[in-house]
Amino acid sequence: MLEAKVYIVGAGPGDPDLITVKGQKILQEADVLLYTDSLVNPALMEQAKPEAAVIKTAGMHLEEIIEIIAAEVEKGHSVARVHTGDPAVYGAIFEQMTYLKERGIGYEIIPGVSSVFASAAAAGIELTIPELTQSVILTRAEGRTPMPEGEQLIDLAKHQCSLALFLSATLMKKVVRECLAAGWKESDAVVVVYKATWPDQKIVRATLGTVDEEMRKAGIRKQAMVIISKAADQALLEQRGKYESKLYDKTFTHGFRKGEPANG
Ligand code: SAH
Repeated sequence: MLEAKVYIVGAGPGDPDLITVKGQKILQEADVLLYTDSLVNPALMEQAKPEAAVIKTAGMHLEEIIEIIAAEVEKGHSVARVHTGDPAVYGAIFEQMTYLKERGIGYEIIPGVSSVFASAAAAGIELTIPELTQSVILTRAEGRTPMPEGEQLIDLAKHQCSLALFLSATLMKKVVRECLAAGWKESDAVVVVYKATWPDQKIVRATLGTVDEEMRKAGIRKQAMVIISKAADQALLEQRGKYESKLYDKTFTHGFRKGEPANG
């Protein structure tokens, strides 16, 4: 039984099968469902119970949305506020939570599959290959939203680890310029996934030197994840044995398995 509060649900990247079981149950049981029709797959809303109100929010500003939520929760209704991917990354939920807190409305966040992981899966990439790169930076290029001090792409790119860029498809010239200035090479791999897990998904495999032109040719200007990573180079797949995890190494002892002697 759902409570009279707001469930902030991560809908996943697009494919309706990629919502969590918990998220799906909430969509099936909620009295009111609010979703951004430009981003969340409307097919997910078909599971709402017949008497549920399903409301599109793409044209609304936050205060209007909060008014609807407050009125419904006051009536004792459960509200599902459905967000694309995972709500914790570029979900703009913080502002919502401040309004809800001010009004004493309870909320709970249900995680979802972020587009960064759906894109890595679609492109067949492990973002953390042992001894090649062991960190992933989730960030964006600076557009109208200014980046805080120290978080310019040129600063973050210096780490040379995997970079996953949200909201950056229209800023690729700048992205390439900053990566090169931070020490990346024109030959380094970039994978762009447009609408990961949607029927019209497109994958562009390029390098820093070619990505802007390749994206232009493919007509990709939005809803794209840009993965810049040494681990995104498909040629690595031909090099079995070069980068292997210690976890499965025969000689490596860990909590669940005792290693064999190296020459044994
Ligand atoms: N909370 C979302 C991100 C919202 S910001 C998540 O976790 O995925 C919107 C940005 O996310 C887009 O500009 C794009 O960079 C990325 N994005 C969202 N859905 C996507 C998809 N299906 N494929 C590729 N990128 C996507």
